[in-house]
Amino acid sequence: MAQITLDNLAHSYLPNPKGEEDYALKQLDHVWGDGEAYALLGASGCGKSTLLNIISGLLVPSRGRILFGDRDVTHQDTVERNIAQVFQFPVVYDTMTVGDNLAFPLRNRGMDAAYVAARVQKIAAMIGMEEVLNRKARGLTADAKQKISLGRGMVREDVNAILFDEPLTVIDPHMKWELRTQLKALHNEFGHTMIYVTHDQTEALTFADKVVVMHDGRVVQLGTPEELFDTPEHTFVGYFIGSPGMNLIEAEVAGNLARCAGHAVRLGGTYKALQGRVQIGVRPEFVQLVSGEEGLPVTIKRVEDVGRHQIVRAEFQGRAINAVQLEGTPIPADANRMIFAPERINVYADDWRVAPLQSVATPQREAV
Ligand code: ADP
Ligand code: MG
Repeated sequence: MAQITLDNLAHSYLPNPKGEEDYALKQLDHVWGDGEAYALLGASGCGKSTLLNIISGLLVPSRGRILFGDRDVTHQDTVERNIAQVFQFPVVYDTMTVGDNLAFPLRNRGMDAAYVAARVQKIAAMIGMEEVLNRKARGLTADAKQKISLGRGMVREDVNAILFDEPLTVIDPHMKWELRTQLKALHNEFGHTMIYVTHDQTEALTFADKVVVMHDGRVVQLGTPEELFDTPEHTFVGYFIGSPGMNLIEAEVAGNLARCAGHAVRLGGTYKALQGRVQIGVRPEFVQLVSGEEGLPVTIKRVEDVGRHQIVRAEFQGRAINAVQLEGTPIPADANRMIFAPERINVYADDWRVAPLQSVATPQREAV
């Protein structure tokens, strides 16, 4: 196994790329720690598969290098890199039995028969296919075939990394949870470096301790689920993660005060003078509804009940703004203002988070 370094990487599918917009992957420098499990999260088309295929060796980048440890593997293929990859749709040998499909990567490497048999049994148990090991893969459902693909990706213990590209897309929702749990167990047992691509934040946050968020061909943040929630480094992370996402409001910021359309909002830190488009961001979980003179004047549009909390959908200056209220926190009947927990406000200039010069201590997180 090895640490994987992406050095000054960029990729364009065009033969003669010109501007930045011609690149599916823009400037990328990133280190994937040895033995870590990562989720790679981003909207469709942001470059996740491109990046994964560059790491596995299916694609040679237009620029930059890939290192496994100190070894430059930029021009090596997937076999030389010793990587297992599972794709979105099943890749299965129809004429082989389920068991032979699972055994294939091991036999290919000349492993001995007893080891192969034991390993196939173990993986079959993980994917719930022990009963059908002797059946031909032909005629199985897409769901079952994808489980075989997953199993084949996990069967080898000696790989440098296992890459998963939205592997649960065709799996039914109940089984998804089950398989994700199995993948985590496998990681705990063998400590393979794993990169799990998904566009689904719930999948990302439940699978990995570290989430890499991509947006428009760039990595915009690497963080724990808590970091992505508390301090999104880019406005995209703010609104893509969370449900609903972070509220972003145009503001002028001076010292420890923001002004939003003339209304003062106290901040948890002090800021230097900012250039460009300035916004403050606050998650709906840290917004309180009040009536009176303090806070931003809002118009409540509707209230949605979602189990243990309510989502209040409102407008400030004609733009959507949301609050999450815990069950048991009544919304005042004449609520017409929103106030924010100052230490929970992040400040953004041209979409990137600006760290305060000084800040108050971050409070303990309260469960929502
Ligand atoms: P994701 O996996 O995040 O959905 P992709 O890596 O597949 O994103 O695609 C990133 C961008 O590159 C998209 O604009 C997509 O249209 C483009 N792209 C992907 N594959 C190819 C290809 N083989 N040829 C040309 N453009 C491609
Ligand atoms: Mg993709």
